[in-house]
Amino acid sequence: MTRICIDIGHGSNTYPPSKGIGDFAEWSFNNAVGRLAKELAEVNGFTVYLSQPLNEKEVPLETRINRINKTVCEVGFSIHANYATNPSASGHEFWYWHTNEQGRKLASIADANAIALLPNKRRGLKESKPSTPYDFGILRRTKMPFVLGEFGFYSNPEDLKLLKSEQFQMLCAKVVVKTICDYFGKPFRTLPQSNVTPPKQIPAWKVEPLQRLYKDGLVNDYNDWLLKLDEAAPNWLVFTMIDRLNQELKKK
Ligand SMILES: [Zn+2]
Repeated sequence: MTRICIDIGHGSNTYPPSKGIGDFAEWSFNNAVGRLAKELAEVNGFTVYLSQPLNEKEVPLETRINRINKTVCEVGFSIHANYATNPSASGHEFWYWHTNEQGRKLASIADANAIALLPNKRRGLKESKPSTPYDFGILRRTKMPFVLGEFGFYSNPEDLKLLKSEQFQMLCAKVVVKTICDYFGKPFRTLPQSNVTPPKQIPAWKVEPLQRLYKDGLVNDYNDWLLKLDEAAPNWLVFTMIDRLNQELKKK
């Protein structure tokens, strides 16, 4: 299984005094997205290494980097929210180490996914470079392609509302995991959500085959199909399912 690193920015003890505003600690967002992304990455067949454990005090940067390099992860994604003294600054941006081509590739996939999934503004790709305020150790010293995502500004009132919302946190987790799936050319699978209820009462015998196919990887978008269970299947869908079954049978 492919081992990946999800790096939750900061720790539970970082705000106050730094990394936060009002009743909001940046870490609380990073930690929530990290937790969702880990779950989603595991559904997608990755082995996840959390360089900053969930709900814990900050692991110092040097320790993190040494541990990440020792665990031999194939890619890494660091999760953050941004701050600016000017409250009008808003949006998402993705940083990579300026000489790392694969890091740039990973960051550009993250940028494309964020454009498609997130409601806030695009700020695009950013190069982390030595001797600048944006010389990020986690990008410079990690041995694998690494991206640092700043998903929004907690110093901006609209972005702050998003950063606090569970819906936005889930979308950010999707950006993280879909980016890694896209990087490896793997189809992206969504999480089955207990809060997604069918539009009307659907008997269990109609839902169970979908659950089994999802569990075995023959169906990717569980929630979407759950909502469409009573709709007629187009021919392409019938052929796609038969084709997937056929491919599986050929493997055996
Ligand atoms: Zn941060």
